[in-house]
Amino acid sequence: MQVKCPGCSGLLYETHQIAADGSQSTLGKPPTIHNDGDDAYITCPHCKSKVVMVRSDTSAAIGFRPSHIKGT
Ligand SMILES: [Zn+2]
Repeated sequence: MQVKCPGCSGLLYETHQIAADGSQSTLGKPPTIHNDGDDAYITCPHCKSKVVMVRSDTSAAIGFRPSHIKGT
């Protein structure tokens, strides 16, 4: 699954298929997640916009997904 920027539709990162438990694993280097105190976010490498991430913890790991991507 390609995760794209909501601003410019550029590729942010790519994940393997989402597992049954909702967990995702990134292909290659995972994006750096920044935190400004209230929000966790990644910065789009294309348009530099801030893409807010929400926690999507699973039994296996603490994860994040972009807030504009629907979880399972
Ligand atoms: Zn962008």
